Amino acid sequence: MRLVSYLSNGTPRVGGVRDGQIIDLAAADPTLPTSMRGLLALGAAGLERARLALAGGPVVSRESIQLLAPVPDPEKVICIGLNYADHAAESGQPIPPEPVVFNKFPTAVRAHGDPIVLPKLSDKVDYEAELVVIIGTGGKHIPRERAYQHVAGYACGHDVSARDWQLQKPGGQWLLGKTFDSFAPFGPELVTADEVGDPGVLDIRLRLDGVVMQDSNTRQLIFAVDQLVAYVSSVCTLKPGDVIFTGTPPGVGGARKPPVYLRAGQRAEVEIEKIGTLANPIVAEE
Ligand code: MN
Repeated sequence: MRLVSYLSNGTPRVGGVRDGQIIDLAAADPTLPTSMRGLLALGAAGLERARLALAGGPVVSRESIQLLAPVPDPEKVICIGLNYADHAAESGQPIPPEPVVFNKFPTAVRAHGDPIVLPKLSDKVDYEAELVVIIGTGGKHIPRERAYQHVAGYACGHDVSARDWQLQKPGGQWLLGKTFDSFAPFGPELVTADEVGDPGVLDIRLRLDGVVMQDSNTRQLIFAVDQLVAYVSSVCTLKPGDVIFTGTPPGVGGARKPPVYLRAGQRAEVEIEKIGTLANPIVAEE
């Protein structure tokens, strides 16, 4: 099942996708929540009710709505650094013995189609294609053996990164370099875990104006999705709708010679097998 969040007349709604068309789930079943976090909080039973509503709900005209990120307001946006061995190598970093975790603020979240804004304060904004995990049922100290029971689904993500802030500011400002507004687009849809199957065998690529810049497979992940869920939840409680950006494969612009950074007017696309394509135009800050 494919789920979306959108605004209709200024009101958030949750939709399902049926034959490429968006279905208003709460119109079919008024007892369903109208926010993705609310729906995910109902766990597997909520997704089952969504499935029933999807079969009979009314079609919503795409022209009448504004697509949002699948979870437009996650409580936590968790990111994993250096999670592909060859990306660690191109970054001049050793393969980490444990996941390297940082975060973005929810103000960085954007939808498919929304612009990625190049801030005036950076001239080294880089691209990173990433598989995004969306948490369903929350939990603390989730064991690896049960971790997939806490994954509602997946989306394509773009971990936009201001390298000058991330690497050259005093102390290395990973948080600030990664959390300028619009630096966490993900979507277009939440594809439920049952539809994706094994998240560790998916082709992943990033294109800039149609040119392939990253081309890999999630087989190359150092720490798999279940390990990441277990590791992060050993520190902080995961909540429904929390998202985990799982790291990027090699080919990032900052590691190229000469470096390649994002420019206004370009279009970035993150494509992941079975999940879809997230496309965002690049614009300059006003
Ligand atoms: Mn990243």
